[in-house]
Amino acid sequence: MRTLSDLIKPSVRKLAAYTLTPHRTSIKLNQNENPFGMPESVIAEVERRVAGRDWARYPDFVPVELKETLANFAGWRADGLLVGNGSNELIQALMMIIVEGGTRVVLSEPTFTVYRLMIEVLGGEVVNVPPKADFEYDMDAVRETAVKTNAAAVILCSPNNPTGKSVAESDLRALLDAFDGFVIVDEAYYEFSGQNYVRLLAEYPRLVVLRTFSKAMAMAGLRVGYFLGAPEVAIEIDKAKLPYNLNFFSMAAAQVAVEQYDTALKPLVERLITERERVSAALAAADVFQPVPSKANFMLARTTRLAPKQVFQGMLERDILIRDVSKYPMLAEYFRFNIGTPAENDAALAAFSEISSQ
Ligand code: PMP
Repeated sequence: MRTLSDLIKPSVRKLAAYTLTPHRTSIKLNQNENPFGMPESVIAEVERRVAGRDWARYPDFVPVELKETLANFAGWRADGLLVGNGSNELIQALMMIIVEGGTRVVLSEPTFTVYRLMIEVLGGEVVNVPPKADFEYDMDAVRETAVKTNAAAVILCSPNNPTGKSVAESDLRALLDAFDGFVIVDEAYYEFSGQNYVRLLAEYPRLVVLRTFSKAMAMAGLRVGYFLGAPEVAIEIDKAKLPYNLNFFSMAAAQVAVEQYDTALKPLVERLITERERVSAALAAADVFQPVPSKANFMLARTTRLAPKQVFQGMLERDILIRDVSKYPMLAEYFRFNIGTPAENDAALAAFSEISSQ
């Protein structure tokens, strides 16, 4: 007689789930969210648009208006755009159409852990090409490994979570020119880097760009992300994606957030970039934890005298939540925190300084 666990794929049984302990603190710097929240003008307009919407009826099968709006916003064609329930859903759907038993996918870890999880759930194999010692991508090694292992895809996160490093255009082009698999660029944090690769999509149909409304767009609670790529690929992903993946409220919120991006959200992104540079400089000057220069709204910092767990605990005791990433490859001496409001950043800097002088 088979046991329950005999009925689960071995590739899944051996994995650990993606989890996060739900600590509650006044200052939350652990999930790279927008600390300012969604501006009132967006919330008011969304509430006006959804008022009276019949909850008993399904949302639109294809969010036509949102797709058109996003296509204009991103500078790409609407038939090469898909909207998902967070970009996580699109990472999953994309892996579902590419990965089966034995398929190789190149990653550069430490990176966002959901990539490996999805690849392995589907029976695929991760080929890891670590970054250089300063955490910059080792793009020569990525390119050579992708070609040599005949990988189906390379996933690059730019800027990368958790290192904050981005991919240079010349390196991305060299990869696309040498390698005939998919090149997936996760641009979850692109707004903070001043750089994106949508303009290469027309030239390279094997390039895929993924984005989210969870970070700069201040909508993590509403779960919206989008895919930009060749229409032929969008058609295939549509087969793996669940119907009605986007609820009507999130659809309306994404629509209004894009309409008001320049006036309501972009100024917040600019403040976060300014704050990132201020916090990084202050931390470096204090010479207690060494910040890793970042192009995103978060950064790594190195701690040698105290263990990352002690820093995490010390911050928690001061009502501030950061991320202990010391279990990630190469990060045994690091913690990660995201940029908050100016007041939150001052509180975090003061807490870092207290903890380090204990
Ligand atoms: N990509 C990266 C690099 C991320 O850091 C995250 C969220 N932490 C996601 C994708 C998933 O975002 P979403 O909320 O859109 O599912």
